[in-house]
Amino acid sequence: MAEFEIQVTELDAGGKDYVFPIRSAWLAEQLSALGAAGEGLSAPASDGQLSVFADKTGPDVILRGRVQGVVVAPCSRCLKPAPITVDSELALLMTARGRGHRPEPGEEDLSPEEVEREFFTGDTIVLDDVVREHLLVEVPMQPLCSESCPGIHVPESVRGPEDLAAQPSEKSAMAEAFARAARQQSKTKRAN
Ligand SMILES: [Zn+2]
Repeated sequence: MAEFEIQVTELDAGGKDYVFPIRSAWLAEQLSALGAAGEGLSAPASDGQLSVFADKTGPDVILRGRVQGVVVAPCSRCLKPAPITVDSELALLMTARGRGHRPEPGEEDLSPEEVEREFFTGDTIVLDDVVREHLLVEVPMQPLCSESCPGIHVPESVRGPEDLAAQPSEKSAMAEAFARAARQQSKTKRAN
């Protein structure tokens, strides 16, 4: 069952506005269906919202709108759930397929300005995949619960020596190399 459907037959000359709730339960279902790609991600307690204005031009339908919602991802520093707020613009050109005069995807050259072009069959446009992609693309590679997240607190008793935790910076590595070169040089001088 599709969650977000637009009936093309409902569209008249003036276009039509649609507002759908992005149900938390639907998002949870989508994330679990993703398997590994959705691992660690979860749906928030509250619903999001898809708002779309659909306008028919010939056999095509132009969709403009917004995907608003939240995806919960584990913070990359402290692993606590970090809600990622999504507020994404949607602009789609939906092309009817299978009407004889329309080529199948890949059979025609799409000009580069046609950023997002999708195809639909029959009289129903299903936006489930589009909504899911808009939500997931906003999740960063390294989600943070807050910019200033200090990370997992390691108790003093199990903490190693300070220099063990310290990341060697590029600068110190270079200083180290210089020092080594200088030592080498002075050794050579002494040998002469
Ligand atoms: Zn955190």
